[in-house]
Amino acid sequence: MFCNIIVTRPFDQYFTYKLKKGQIVKEGTIVRVPFGRTKNQLGMVIETMRTLPEKKEYKLKNVEYVFEEILLSKQIIRLINWISDYTLEPRGLVLKLFLINNKIFEENKIEQKNNLFKPNVVKLNNDQAIASQKIKDLLFKFYSPIVLEGVTGSGKTEVYFEIVEEVYKKNKQILIMVPEISLTPQLEKRFLERFGFNPEVWHSKISDKKRKSIWSRSYLGEPIVVIGARSSLFLPFKKLGLIIVDEEHDISYKQEDNIRYHARDIATVRAKIEKCNIILSSATPSLETQNNINKKKYKHVFLKSQFSGIELPKIELINLNENLLKKDKWISQPIIDELTSCLNKKEQALLFLNRRGYSPLSLCFECGYRYQCNQCTSWLVMHRSKKRLLCHHCGVIYPIKSDCPKCESKESIKLIGPGIERIQEELGILFPQYRIGVMSSDVANTPNKIKNIVENFENNKIDILVATQIMAKGYHFPNLSFVGVLDADAGLTGGDMRAIERTYNLLQQVSGRAGRANKRGKVLIQTYFPDQEVIQSLIKRDRKLFVQQALKDRETFNIPPFTYMTSIIISGHAKSQAESYAQKLVQHNFSSKNINILGPVEAPIFLLRGQHRYRILIKGSSRKLLNEYTKFLLKKYPLPPSLKRIIDVDPYTFM
Ligand code: ADP
Ligand code: ZN
Ligand code: ZN
Repeated sequence: MFCNIIVTRPFDQYFTYKLKKGQIVKEGTIVRVPFGRTKNQLGMVIETMRTLPEKKEYKLKNVEYVFEEILLSKQIIRLINWISDYTLEPRGLVLKLFLINNKIFEENKIEQKNNLFKPNVVKLNNDQAIASQKIKDLLFKFYSPIVLEGVTGSGKTEVYFEIVEEVYKKNKQILIMVPEISLTPQLEKRFLERFGFNPEVWHSKISDKKRKSIWSRSYLGEPIVVIGARSSLFLPFKKLGLIIVDEEHDISYKQEDNIRYHARDIATVRAKIEKCNIILSSATPSLETQNNINKKKYKHVFLKSQFSGIELPKIELINLNENLLKKDKWISQPIIDELTSCLNKKEQALLFLNRRGYSPLSLCFECGYRYQCNQCTSWLVMHRSKKRLLCHHCGVIYPIKSDCPKCESKESIKLIGPGIERIQEELGILFPQYRIGVMSSDVANTPNKIKNIVENFENNKIDILVATQIMAKGYHFPNLSFVGVLDADAGLTGGDMRAIERTYNLLQQVSGRAGRANKRGKVLIQTYFPDQEVIQSLIKRDRKLFVQQALKDRETFNIPPFTYMTSIIISGHAKSQAESYAQKLVQHNFSSKNINILGPVEAPIFLLRGQHRYRILIKGSSRKLLNEYTKFLLKKYPLPPSLKRIIDVDPYTFM
């Protein structure tokens, strides 16, 4: 007997192996096979055969080991094929997402676990009850997304918990996806309070033992609830009944390293294939999702006010052209005044600045030299707390020097612009008697550290928190009454096609952190462009207007969701070689007006880790056509071994 196997390596095609006597396999069986120099590569059988053309037989290798008890379902196989066809990632690597590593299959006992299901009854308000009923009416029969939109603090979580309860009672499995690990601790806690047992938490940092246990229990169809980051999507659930994509608009759902995919989009496909319900929850649904609502492909339920009944925080602008900032200071007087009054009332404040570190640019005031990464097109960011300069693109660390490395002037380095550490310093001088915390991916880089900061803020152990976008998401702090946004303009200039949407969402989300529990909050936004349309629709809280306008713009300029895009990024150590290969790719004369090729251009980060990068953007009127064309190109012009090539289907970053 013989079988064709997809191995967990970067190949799209299958490989044929011989079966040893007594080995029984079928489509979906997981096996271990020798491959290249490794002895135990995981793979999945896709078909078996009695005979082969004679000539091939002698050099075939044997299947090493058959995991008799493990069989991926037809649905999962379909999903693997779909992901590979859509993202143009080789089937073998997509399979690897599901099989993870050999440790999952090691022989050892799985801990038995029984969830003590003791739900707390929660009384929903009118809006919530209507939304919940609408969703319940669609349970087990409508498998396209249901969008649960609600202003920040409206109680979306409680609504989807109702649905979780309903589905869990039917002994089905449930997956709740969050865009970042940092959101798991608070949700885990709320889940425990609501249901009386701990959900399973799945992300890249959990232990091997835990990983194996969750994988196996998903596979065995045990009734579990998993709260997970992107990769939880690839658990082998046998009885999936519900997927919730929390904060569905969050671009962290787009996976950018290794394999590129958009977790929300794949969740949607998985729901369709598995015939299970899916809820997309957000205060700021993405324009893609909004477009699907408009086209009636998705159902939509809406919570219009905060659960507390308190009005949404008042948003006011501070025009920095009038309220001039003092030299090397970044907090305007109106924010200082508001902070003072907030702290006097023993309430808490959040200052938002989406910039890590102390200062984004270090410059010699004698010769104009700027500290720059040797490997990348990027300025070095000063991190004072860690006493070093850091490249945010490649992570390389440089020592801090006060003398100029170029003209050798003494003490000539000037720090330009603020990061959150610098704001913390400024606050320390203004409010020496208060506790000031910072939160960014530098200090909150493990679930535990995040939990600590969040708990300290919840328990009033921090008075003012200075934070990056990491804090803009889903958190709930009852005593937080004032939010100051220090630089609303940062996201509006020179960005990509989603910059405006991202900024709007970010500001709307940050604003939503204030005044959620028992008093109306206040938001002050510093800007040099108070008349900007985005800023205006934000303070008027007119999201509808914003969405309408933004979708119209996207249609006019022919960008997604009104067209399909694929990026190709070519990089190489040798500039000329990378450039000429990129040129070759676009020169092919394709006779279709439905395909549009732009580039190649030097990428905005032209040099990254010492590699020169070129970008090509292909647009097409259908995904199928676009993928066919991309595949054709890649096959016709094989990649020279010294170059690297990234295919990014539905790109979100254009750097
Ligand atoms: P959202 O996810 O929409 O931002 P949350 O679900 O976090 O809002 O709800 C905001 C706050 O209101 C939370 O403290 C939550 O516990 C509370 N809340 C929401 N719905 C209810 C309810 N039906 N009963 C009691 N408290 C609720
Ligand atoms: Zn100098
Ligand atoms: Zn670098």
